[in-house]
Amino acid sequence: MKQEIPYKIYLAENEIPDSWYNLRADMKNKPAPLLSPGTLQPLTAEELSGIFCKELVEQELDDTTPYIAIPEEIRNFYKMYRPAPLVRAYCLEKALGTPAHIYYKFEGNNTSGSHKLNSAIAQAYYAKKQGLKGVTTETGAGQWGTALSMACAYLGLDCKVFMVKVSYEQKPFRREVMRTYGADVTPSPSMKTEVGRKILEAHPGTTGSLGCAISEAVEVATQNEGYRYVLGSVLNQVLLHQSVIGLEAKKALDKYGVTPDIIIGCAGGGSNLGGLIAPFMGEKLRGEKDYRIIAVEPASCPSFTRGKFAYDFCDTGMICPLAKMYTLGSGFIPSANHAGGLRFHGMSSTLSQLYHDGYMEATSVEQTSVFEAAEFFARTEGILPAPESSHAIRVAIDEALKCKETGEEKNILFGLTGTGYFDMVAYEKFNDGVMSDYIPTDEDLEKGFAGIPKFPGNEF
Ligand SMILES: *Cc1c(COP(=O)(O)O)cnc(C)c1O
Repeated sequence: MKQEIPYKIYLAENEIPDSWYNLRADMKNKPAPLLSPGTLQPLTAEELSGIFCKELVEQELDDTTPYIAIPEEIRNFYKMYRPAPLVRAYCLEKALGTPAHIYYKFEGNNTSGSHKLNSAIAQAYYAKKQGLKGVTTETGAGQWGTALSMACAYLGLDCKVFMVKVSYEQKPFRREVMRTYGADVTPSPSMKTEVGRKILEAHPGTTGSLGCAISEAVEVATQNEGYRYVLGSVLNQVLLHQSVIGLEAKKALDKYGVTPDIIIGCAGGGSNLGGLIAPFMGEKLRGEKDYRIIAVEPASCPSFTRGKFAYDFCDTGMICPLAKMYTLGSGFIPSANHAGGLRFHGMSSTLSQLYHDGYMEATSVEQTSVFEAAEFFARTEGILPAPESSHAIRVAIDEALKCKETGEEKNILFGLTGTGYFDMVAYEKFNDGVMSDYIPTDEDLEKGFAGIPKFPGNEF
């Protein structure tokens, strides 16, 4: 007899994965290595260890080990908020009148309000283990900074966060949560760093960008004894840590013999999507199973769907390693009316390679349609979703509506990466009917592409 599937599939505490899964081990075409911006040669572990913690450098460069054990201390921290529930969206299905079965993995059940805590605790742990004093980072809307502050507070590490100035001013609550957890929060660009002073001189009155905050955080880490830089997305190590999302989701679905037909995730730098799809993509890469995998990005920041696959800088100051990825150019900044997050100009090099090789699809959606989906979801499933997560909700709903037309009973899995309590200014705009869409023109994008470095082998 077929088992009735509950609203929430909970795993037991001892079912939290004991290893992360390293997707790269199963990729035939490995993601391209990080290059030194000076020599254009692949960066060695030694060079990278000036910026990142030693063990994280090893994870960053490891293309071959499929499973990496999760240290006991990190698993213990995970127990505070994991396993995360896998929810069967019965109410949403009913409201849509779709024969599709919709599942979502909910990662918003912790104070940071997102999946970012999964990697924050790992990165803070390795910094502590190395005997460092603290870590530096950037944050945009503030989820990553909050997650890192929580992890650092737990381990007794100093945490210096450069927060994009416009968010620092417009999101005072997020800023205060970070300070409550003991972080030192600076609006970026700032006068504290050389790169910040340079950017302020060139663009007085700028409200900042992620790329600029990254440059400042890296400068502080490399110039202060006992500090390293940590990053909340994009890097291979972050995708590795986020694989707990997919491993748990797969374990929960396997309990009920459910195989997803379509897996959907929003994509900013690619960490939640990379984590959610990891074990499924592994099966696909090994030729064991096939899944349709869809990355969803904002139409106003379309790195996968309209970007170039090339080596590019990860930051505005051009001091970070070069990564080969789908990029809009490190100078690209989404238009001022963009409110839904996912605003980084590049994309994880692992996901970029997989997309380039045809293992996944990507689509872009406009923000008013994203907030319509968010509102519908909040009213049916009860959870107030983060605008970022709502990109995935939009496409999950669209796919479920297609099933309604065809009568297909597909299984749809999507990542609900977080909650939107701190995004009420964006919701307010939507509720007041003053939210608008802006899709960059080809000319707008050309300006960003012009900043992609040109060197032999980097034609695009
Ligand atoms: C940061 C964030 C994202 C996007 O980052 P990825 O690295 O692409 O996963 C998505 N959802 C939420 C709630 C976030 O905080």
